[in-house]
Amino acid sequence: MVVTRFAPSPTGYLHIGGLRTALFSYLWAKNRGGKFVLRIEDTDKARNSEEATAAILKAFEWLGLEADGEITYQSQRDEIYAKYIKQLLDEGKAYKCYMSKEELTELRETQMANKERTMYDGRYRDFDGTPPEGVKPVIRIKAPLTGEILVKDGVKGTISFQAEDILDDFVIARADGAPTYNFVVAIDDHLMGINEVIRGDDHLSNTPKQIVVYEALGFDIPAFYHVPMIHNANGKKLSKRDGATDVMDYKEMGYTPQALLNFLVRLGWSHGDQEIFSFDEMVKLFNPKDINKSASIYNTEKLDWLNSHYIKNTPNDELAGLLLPYDVDITAHEKKETILDALKERAKTLKELAPLVTEILTTPTTFEAKAIKKAFKDNAFDVLKAYSEKLKTNDPQLASDYHALMEEVVSEMEIGFGKIGMPLRVALLGKMGGPNIDVIMEIIAKEETLLRISQAITENS
Ligand code: GLU
Repeated sequence: MVVTRFAPSPTGYLHIGGLRTALFSYLWAKNRGGKFVLRIEDTDKARNSEEATAAILKAFEWLGLEADGEITYQSQRDEIYAKYIKQLLDEGKAYKCYMSKEELTELRETQMANKERTMYDGRYRDFDGTPPEGVKPVIRIKAPLTGEILVKDGVKGTISFQAEDILDDFVIARADGAPTYNFVVAIDDHLMGINEVIRGDDHLSNTPKQIVVYEALGFDIPAFYHVPMIHNANGKKLSKRDGATDVMDYKEMGYTPQALLNFLVRLGWSHGDQEIFSFDEMVKLFNPKDINKSASIYNTEKLDWLNSHYIKNTPNDELAGLLLPYDVDITAHEKKETILDALKERAKTLKELAPLVTEILTTPTTFEAKAIKKAFKDNAFDVLKAYSEKLKTNDPQLASDYHALMEEVVSEMEIGFGKIGMPLRVALLGKMGGPNIDVIMEIIAKEETLLRISQAITENS
């Protein structure tokens, strides 16, 4: 069974690059009928916070990505890591290194002066003398001194790392006993049964070290897929300056979860030239073998385009629910369907859609000067009054009924349609623009229409 994972370090919010690897991992697990698990890498007490973990979980909830099983927190696994450190020490695969900070600095300076790679020189690797006093040892793993380490990567192919170029006996536990990053990642991936690791290629340099740990402990090495970074339009790594990178900011800006997920799945993965993927399709079609080899480019227009697409195609019932966080509640409105049908084509985001709804449903309290000048001239008020009379003596329900009554006024007063359309629009909305007025009248109904007309006349006479 395929088991994938997402393993964020909770140092801030969940960012777009992290979410993308989470999505890829999720999709691949589901595609194979496997499991997607979540591990919070919260061992760095100075940089990690519970709020950051909560922010990650909140983003997952918003997007409907659910992890399987319990969440694993590295901060609760010290005993497990200690057990493996002891095992490696007992087996002679790791050792205590008593080098002091000063010695390490001195070594580094000498290496730098000789233009050598700065690395630990292995001086305690085979030490069996009396340890120096007053130095708490770190634990180092015996890394291979020569030969190559092969990372078989599903995206990049097999990459060979020369042991002498990249490895030294790296620290697996600090002087205070705290285990280090690459050590715990390898242990957890093994214990959690993870056999396919999809992560950003910024982690590629960690992989040989993790392989050293896997091999020392006799664990199977998972399949790796290192995903190229997301770049901005200038070909640089995506940064905060390129717009929001916190996933929850996308909610704030009015993007739908579907649009964001669709946008992300296409950042670095493709299936022919298909752009729109329902969630089920993503699950059905995703395969990490199709992850692109080069960096992907973040493109806001594309996200907007997808978002408009999803807004247009979301059933109105669901769309009404999506508007709730933007202070618009039309979930129980009788004319919900008509309102959203009239407006959903006009907004790129939910945040844009929300005020359009409010505008229609609220009696205007102000009238735009330019609109008044253009619309309330000549006999505009007479036309509006005539229309009010028509409304009072009829019982219009649908937009077409309201329209027919407008036609009657037009023909009886022998005026052009604009002579009723424009003043009516300004009376109803306080400004120009917006969807068809007959539709607006159907939405707000007869009494509110009459009220808005009479109010517009009173306030602008
Ligand atoms: N905790 C790492 C991060 O947040 C990810 C580790 C991994 O995927 O192996 O970047």
